[in-house]
Amino acid sequence: MQKKFLFFIGLIFILGSPVFGQEQPAQKYAATIKASDLHELLTIIASDALEGRKAGSRGQKMAAAFNTEEFKNMGLQPIVPGPCGPGYLQSFTLAKYDINSIYLANDKQTFDLSAAVLYAGRQALQQPQSAPALLIDTTRLKGNNLSDRAVFITGRITNRQRQQQLSALAYQKGAAMVVFVPFGSQNEFNGYWRNVRHFFASRRYSFLNEIPAQEGNGYFVIGPAVLAALLEVDNEEITKLLGNPTGKKARQLNNQQPVIRWLTSKPGRTLETENVLGYLEGGDKKDEVVVITAHYDHIGRQGNNINNGADDDGSGTASVLEIARAFSRAKAEGNGPRRSILFMTVTAEEMGLIGSQYYTLHPVLPLSQTVVDLNIDMIGRYDPAHKNNKNFVYLVGSDKLSADLHQLSEQTNATYTQLQLDYTYNDENHPDRIYYRSDHWNFAKNNIPIIFYFSGVHEDYHRPTDTVDKIAFDLLEKRARLVFHTAWAIANRDARLMLD
Ligand SMILES: [Zn+2]
Repeated sequence: MQKKFLFFIGLIFILGSPVFGQEQPAQKYAATIKASDLHELLTIIASDALEGRKAGSRGQKMAAAFNTEEFKNMGLQPIVPGPCGPGYLQSFTLAKYDINSIYLANDKQTFDLSAAVLYAGRQALQQPQSAPALLIDTTRLKGNNLSDRAVFITGRITNRQRQQQLSALAYQKGAAMVVFVPFGSQNEFNGYWRNVRHFFASRRYSFLNEIPAQEGNGYFVIGPAVLAALLEVDNEEITKLLGNPTGKKARQLNNQQPVIRWLTSKPGRTLETENVLGYLEGGDKKDEVVVITAHYDHIGRQGNNINNGADDDGSGTASVLEIARAFSRAKAEGNGPRRSILFMTVTAEEMGLIGSQYYTLHPVLPLSQTVVDLNIDMIGRYDPAHKNNKNFVYLVGSDKLSADLHQLSEQTNATYTQLQLDYTYNDENHPDRIYYRSDHWNFAKNNIPIIFYFSGVHEDYHRPTDTVDKIAFDLLEKRARLVFHTAWAIANRDARLMLD
């Protein structure tokens, strides 16, 4: 008896009073997230009738209408401003860009994307542009005049965020084009190119008539072999130049001003697509908002085969709807969250994280008041690495911007869901670069802490065989409950999540 009592006191001490105080309602509403409901939702979202939900297609519109109906029925508010009052849909127009038109050249040779050249950006140009080359070391970027130069930046800049920051700086200083040369060895560059090229090249669509100003003309990334060809120096000389980019050789070269030409992508046909937003207003801290996202678009048909995208990302979409329902029920019974929650199923993820980017460029609630994005993409299965321990989920990004968030996430899982949290993909050096590959990245880019939930890739990834019958609904339920509990804890605690 006494032992039991001491254990109980100990438990209160371990859990801490805030968590303990919330335990009852949180668990009550988490229990309303059920495998059977998720199955029902996913059967509709991943049905053949929706034809693979490709952004802009009839199937995507049907999915948007379904999500809207669900949000409406559970009592979430519309929050997207419109001419006839607020709505649930955030619409925008995309143009298809012809990436085959992209190249970098001098007057002797042309290098397009098939030649181990990477291009990130969406500036639409009908005519090629040209400018004299300037080879410069990363550290000298600030002090130099870059006006109307094609600026080749040396130094090991392999991180996309860093590339974006530095190219923005170069454009501010008048650069006409930015080209990164991150490796001195062509072999090393080839390895990098193989890992990241799908990500760079996947950007075939972009906003019509809207290029975020800081993106300028975008940027190229090349290896030393292409650099040597463009600057018309031999390989030995390029090694010297890259080893000492501020030395005499580099100064000579910069005075000669070899002219570089480039063409970026041309806009083609357009399509319209929609994010679907449902808003649950909070209580005493309602100005702060927790965002929960999953993409509901997928890759459409391949001939007669439909890519149902049950796991990718029907599993996340069904989870967002089911989590929203649990929070709505809590609010209806007087247990609503203190902070507001924005439930958002986003579009055009498969075209390059475009829907979430559109949202972060046009947020309906200030990003400065957005405390977290919990993003779900593929949590309905298990990968070969976990076939003997399916009680897991991969977490990515939880510790990148806020140690506070990471700790809360760990504690929440330990208290409620006891999943094995696998951080394999959280490693910056992991070749799959998952941190940059789903919608949370657009929030992280804006310095908003994120957690990405993921259960790994499998043989049915982006194939017509990614179907509902392959989903492990018991696991899906458990992972959705983890997201729910984490959101609940963030939305209800006293202090806003702290940035590091
Ligand atoms: Zn996905």
